[in-house]
Amino acid sequence: MSLRKLAKKLPYPIQQGLKYIYSSIPPHFRYDKVFWDTYNFLQESQWWSREKLEEYQIQQLNKLLHHAYKNVPYYKRVFDERGLKPKDIQNFDELRKLPYLTKDIVRGNLNDLIAQNIPKEDMEYVTTGGTSGKPLGFYIEKRTNLIRMAFEWREWNWMGYKFGDKCIVLRGNVIKREENGQKAWWEYDRENNYLILSTYDMTDENLPKYVQKIEEFKPKVIRGYPSALDILARFIRKNNLAINARGNIKAISTSSENLYPAQRPMIEETFKCTVFDKYGNVEQVTILGECEKHEGYHDFMEYSYTEILDKDGNPVTKDGEVGEIASTSFTNYATPFIRYKIDDLAEYTTHRCSCGRRLSLVKKIEGRWLQELIVTKRGNLISITSLNMHSDVFDNVRQFQFYQDTPDKIIFKVVKKNTYTEKDTEYIMQELQRKIKNQIDIEIAFVNEVPKTTRGKYQFLIQKLPIKFGD
Ligand SMILES: [Zn+2]
Repeated sequence: MSLRKLAKKLPYPIQQGLKYIYSSIPPHFRYDKVFWDTYNFLQESQWWSREKLEEYQIQQLNKLLHHAYKNVPYYKRVFDERGLKPKDIQNFDELRKLPYLTKDIVRGNLNDLIAQNIPKEDMEYVTTGGTSGKPLGFYIEKRTNLIRMAFEWREWNWMGYKFGDKCIVLRGNVIKREENGQKAWWEYDRENNYLILSTYDMTDENLPKYVQKIEEFKPKVIRGYPSALDILARFIRKNNLAINARGNIKAISTSSENLYPAQRPMIEETFKCTVFDKYGNVEQVTILGECEKHEGYHDFMEYSYTEILDKDGNPVTKDGEVGEIASTSFTNYATPFIRYKIDDLAEYTTHRCSCGRRLSLVKKIEGRWLQELIVTKRGNLISITSLNMHSDVFDNVRQFQFYQDTPDKIIFKVVKKNTYTEKDTEYIMQELQRKIKNQIDIEIAFVNEVPKTTRGKYQFLIQKLPIKFGD
């Protein structure tokens, strides 16, 4: 058992004491070797030529395909059925001999998609939570969390954020700390120097305290959901409050939801600093992020191979052309995702960034994270992204959807799996209430089917109430 896991089992006050000791250890001793090896590698590879980057990708691809053929029954079958061997795929064009991996294929073949040579205890089960309304579960290797963190830190370095800098976090975290017997709306994470603010308590009556708390903390950066920053920024503007009065906030990082064109300038003007937007996903495929020049989103080519494809499955080649993303992850060997269609669109560009990095650029991303908000009893808005459950809560649920047509109630529609029991209802209600904290009544309704949109897509929330947002 790791030290961190062991510490979690200890009583709270002892945990806090340990955290204090732990936090006084400099970060380069705290993080694992895997993290530092990756981090140091990425500091160099970001300046490689395009040729060298692509050469690296081919190498990674080769390694992954050999592994998948040898250890993953699903891929063994896919190769065999087509009379292919991994050596038949030596470049990006030849990769298109393999079929796409879709969410439905993952759902239907999960057991066959798990690598047989990786010990179960080195794996972790994760789910996408289901912004698309249909949860997707799969395995990752635990060590890949550190690799992903190293990639994340490279992008944070681009925005001037360094290890140990003060950071405000507005990303749907559930606050564990209590105040006067009630859940608090903020929490200090000493280990990471984060001040975590709740995104579930952003009411007009609380928001002045948020602004004050941010000013007192003097963060260097803020990391948040676009929707949460939008709510905060609009409140600050409406009430003419002072924010970043000392100029200490240097950058804001947004991710996990679409950042709408009108939101960026509004947030930047209000906080008097630059927004760095990022695209990532639970599936650990493509990561896209902005550098200090903001000329588009750099594709983190060492992390995955990203295809942008037209409706016939050919790569888009013209400036401004929009295509569907198919991504092959180099880091997750537990459930290999090869040519995975994540249901997001990207706008292609031939532009080369003036920062000098040859990591390819994408102009714009049209994510599946369409801004979807729930209205609470008090007119407070809660981002639906916050209700994602990256755990086993929806394991016995085939499909789900939120539905709202009155301000004080939300209906949670569930299509049960055969394994669903009364216990699941209790668990789901408990977890949803924990996040929403009685700000709205939740009613659960069992249905045979969740309706799709006219475009055939599942929708996480059907919102019938008019919402004024991002004006
Ligand atoms: Zn750049």
